[in-house]
Amino acid sequence: MRQIFLLILLFIVGQWLVKAVRRADARTQRTGGATGPTGATGDAGNARTTGANSAGAGATRAAPQLAEPMIRCVECGVHAPKSDSVVVAGQAFCCAEHAHRHAARPTGREAR
Ligand SMILES: [Zn+2]
Repeated sequence: MRQIFLLILLFIVGQWLVKAVRRADARTQRTGGATGPTGATGDAGNARTTGANSAGAGATRAAPQLAEPMIRCVECGVHAPKSDSVVVAGQAFCCAEHAHRHAARPTGREAR
């Protein structure tokens, strides 16, 4: 009976160790890219991030390869990626056609 408890304990400790190692690995990779050779895996990180360093470490940390921000078209309500959107007078549209349509047809609420 006691051996079962020991096995369970070993299993939990093993899982915790794997998790801790993975977390430490991810941290060294992140800090290695931003600050330079700090960890043991600094060589691999440097080789990969030398090109990205010129782009700016702060920018990569602020936007870690997230999905593109989506905007909502004022005219039709469709959500479109920001790069494909057209912004006119602070209002975002999914395409230029909708921007023109919205400008040509001002609603009563907008006119006021
Ligand atoms: Zn639209």
